[in-house]
Amino acid sequence: MKHRAVSLFLLAALFCLAVWSAAPELSGPTPARPDEVCVVCYGAVGSNGIAYLVNGVRYAVSKEEAPIFLTDPEGYAKRFDEHQRPKRSSVVMGGGVATLTVLLIIVAARRRRMRRQAG
Ligand SMILES: [Zn+2]
Repeated sequence: MKHRAVSLFLLAALFCLAVWSAAPELSGPTPARPDEVCVVCYGAVGSNGIAYLVNGVRYAVSKEEAPIFLTDPEGYAKRFDEHQRPKRSSVVMGGGVATLTVLLIIVAARRRRMRRQAG
């Protein structure tokens, strides 16, 4: 019986953790600069733009579109990141390819050395 209670507690704790990590951390709004890019329509937010923090990252939105954004803040934030920051991911990809190339060269050099020692 005691064991069952413990596992139930663990399940509940896991469930709470899952819910807690899934829920976006949202704070704001704070005033945005007019030239900030809107998270909903990707245009400038204009003079009455506002900004929210989603999981610590700042996203600006036009005041009229804020209700749309608030229906799915994390979804809009994610799409915005993919739309606005493709360069960063390509830099990461480039870095990965470069690392892989260097690793392959090292492995090839080692193999050659090993062959020399064997022969
Ligand atoms: Zn907009």
